[in-house]
Amino acid sequence: MRVVVIGAGLAGLMAAQELHREGHHVVVIDKGRSPGGRLATRRIGGATLDHGAQFFTVRDNDFDFHVQQWIKAGVVREWCRGFSQHDGHSRYIGVHGMNAIAKHLAHGLDIRCNTFAFEVTRNTNMSWSTKIDDGTVIQSDALVVTCPLPQTYSLLITAHVEVPEALLQCAYDRTIGLLAVLDSESAVPAPGAVQNPNDYLQIVADNYMKGISHIPAITAHFSPAFSEQHWDDDQHELHHLLVHHIEPWLGNARIVESQIKKWRFATPRTPWPQRIWQHESLVIAGDAMGGPKVEGAALSGIAAANAIRQLQN
Ligand SMILES: Cc1cc2nc3c(=O)[nH]c(=O)nc-3n(C[C@H](O)[C@H](O)[C@H](O)COP(=O)(O)OP(=O)(O)OC[C@H]3O[C@@H](n4cnc5c(N)ncnc54)[C@H](O)[C@@H]3O)c2cc1C
Repeated sequence: MRVVVIGAGLAGLMAAQELHREGHHVVVIDKGRSPGGRLATRRIGGATLDHGAQFFTVRDNDFDFHVQQWIKAGVVREWCRGFSQHDGHSRYIGVHGMNAIAKHLAHGLDIRCNTFAFEVTRNTNMSWSTKIDDGTVIQSDALVVTCPLPQTYSLLITAHVEVPEALLQCAYDRTIGLLAVLDSESAVPAPGAVQNPNDYLQIVADNYMKGISHIPAITAHFSPAFSEQHWDDDQHELHHLLVHHIEPWLGNARIVESQIKKWRFATPRTPWPQRIWQHESLVIAGDAMGGPKVEGAALSGIAAANAIRQLQN
């Protein structure tokens, strides 16, 4: 089958890789500069910083199967088993940053980055036409859409498919992040992160202690309430405020370079109870279906591939 996957985040890449391996002709489209979506790693002034997902956990056996393969391939490793206290549950990271997982999954796939899908239509023979920003139309027998749901909604307006209201109205929490390169080691305690230390911070993670950056650099993610409240703040004032809030974890270090990163669709608030939503040869997937985390996105992608596979039977 010819399959178009919209979105090269973890859900889209998992679906695409499974289908590609089985011999289907898969094209993945993403508006971003490179694959990964919220599995994002950035280089600033010689430092490497994860600025989307910081780590992930594993509960499901299907996901564990893939994670063990990533570990064998040298792409993923265990970071720790808890932050302020050991709870025995492994926290995994990409050895060279979380985006390395996406790069690994992208291997061998036909991925078209910098490509915005802006319209999908269902043809009379149940196949799909996906129109991209240069006017090209890509035909496929099946379509997997893995964008955050508000973006999926605008894409599907022209498709004349009745998608449940509750699914498309899923709201997302926002996240404001601060990425800061330091001149010396931070005061973040071992093994390199503090979670929910107060009402406004979700996590402060040290990319140097985590082992992905050669020089000290921290990523701070602010809480949904704080991010909502300060989303439209003047950039200069916001920067000042963010730096003020991370000061306790700087110790004697000074910030040599920093960037603010805003995630508009960071976390789906009310995930759909099933891992995918399917109508004939259309599958909607992503972390809003499988659970608002790395594992949920992966499981939703795997479920999407299973659903497409069954179309042939
Ligand atoms: C700040 C932050 C911190 C997080 N921390 C953690 C964590 O520590 N642990 C954890 O487990 N999870 C964490 N998460 C959640 C985790 O990152 C996500 O659940 C997961 O990566 C989502 O994958 P996805 O494939 O569903 O979506 P995405 O990664 O968002 O992929 C969707 C893709 O669709 C593309 N797209 C959208 N519209 C279009 C269009 N019209 N045309 C073409 N392409 C389009 C986007 O560019 C994007 O690449 C975090 C998320 C954020 C934002």
